[in-house]
Amino acid sequence: MAHSQSPLLPTSGIELEPGMPVCQTDLPLDWYQSEFRPYAEEYLALPDRTPETVLPWLDRYVRPALDHFGDSLLLLAHFYMGGEIVKLVERYGGAIADSYALALQAARNPGKKVIVESAVHFMAEAVAILAHDDQQVWITNPKAGCTMEMLAKDHMVYPVADQLIERYGDDLLVIAYMNTSGRLKALAGSTGGAVCTSSNAHLVVDWARQQGKKILFVPDQHLGRNTAWKLGMDLERLVTLPNPQIYGGGYSLDDGTIAGGIPALDRAEMILWGSYCGVHTIFSADMVRWWQERGYRVLVHPESPLEAVQAADGAGSTAYLWKAAMEAPKGSKLVIGTEGHFVRNAAHEAQKRGVEIHHLADIPDPSFGTSGCGCATMSRNDPPHLAGMLDLLRLGKGPDINRVLAGDNVDERTGRRDRLEGRERSELIEHAKASLERMIAITEAGD
Ligand code: SF4
Repeated sequence: MAHSQSPLLPTSGIELEPGMPVCQTDLPLDWYQSEFRPYAEEYLALPDRTPETVLPWLDRYVRPALDHFGDSLLLLAHFYMGGEIVKLVERYGGAIADSYALALQAARNPGKKVIVESAVHFMAEAVAILAHDDQQVWITNPKAGCTMEMLAKDHMVYPVADQLIERYGDDLLVIAYMNTSGRLKALAGSTGGAVCTSSNAHLVVDWARQQGKKILFVPDQHLGRNTAWKLGMDLERLVTLPNPQIYGGGYSLDDGTIAGGIPALDRAEMILWGSYCGVHTIFSADMVRWWQERGYRVLVHPESPLEAVQAADGAGSTAYLWKAAMEAPKGSKLVIGTEGHFVRNAAHEAQKRGVEIHHLADIPDPSFGTSGCGCATMSRNDPPHLAGMLDLLRLGKGPDINRVLAGDNVDERTGRRDRLEGRERSELIEHAKASLERMIAITEAGD
């Protein structure tokens, strides 16, 4: 059965063009699981990485899988995927989206039984949490983690959240950004809280405030702070918890770890976990002004520091940035502060319509000392992983480590997985689902 173009989401319109490199870097062979190495060896032996060689090679594995699974197969990728993998996924009828739209795909498409995602683990897990019992979710590379989420593992956050719950009881509510494991989404659900994304964080925080709750916002301190600013909250009543890269988690909340100590926590309207995204924290107000002084309109993602957001001409989610790039009138000059592969794809598409787009950090002035980088962990999903995953699934040999179930905790360095069983997993699904469903209800009511 032929696999039709997915009707689920609008296509990105990104095209594969002859001569373009398909992958910006090759992963070393020992980074592949043993089951994927034969595919990687073949891929690395191709004379170059252009569509002319990669597509016929990929077709050999992907087409039989598409025929085998037919319309029950759904391929998904995130906008931030490196190289040209988004174009490949789309070429095979898959859908490209941001994390909110991805999370809904299983639940809203019950006919899709085998869902294969090329993105980071938390995104695949969100799909799995909302999936029906007869839908399977697979990730092409389980070591593709999000660094922000890796600085907010459950063993780091739970002991701190427990202290806050003990002190504030039902007055405390947890809001978990989509970039969290299912275990943190379940924590949010168990406190009556909700998940949020960068496009609806203001709606979700506002919903919590209307209930008079004190909020623990995990894991991204920047999105939390930017949302507070957007809502006009008193920024003096935000407390940022210690940098998890230095302190880990599980520390005691006291005068030694919290600026202002317990009185500051008692006064706080929102407590921010200290995590951040390495890709977005590099942006500064000086970078924004450098481009503005040269006639560019600057848009940034709200995972960027507050000063950059305040200086920019606009801030919003991946979907907002993509729409702005695609709808900019001919002759526009735009600068975007977000993940590098996304900006490169947007610039490539916009150029065809006479729109000029640059990455915020790509400033031709050595005093800025940085350049726009991509999400390296997400890019661990490359063509050999896509080919291998689909071929192994067709042969009935999908490696269990690539199967994604709600509650899975993956160590992105070793690839080791800790999986919940039975009742523990059911309880997690119940709470995590509740927090996702609250987000959906709040978002749809606010649209
Ligand atoms: S860009 Fe940053 S926040 Fe987004 S998935 Fe990558 S590491 Fe995580």
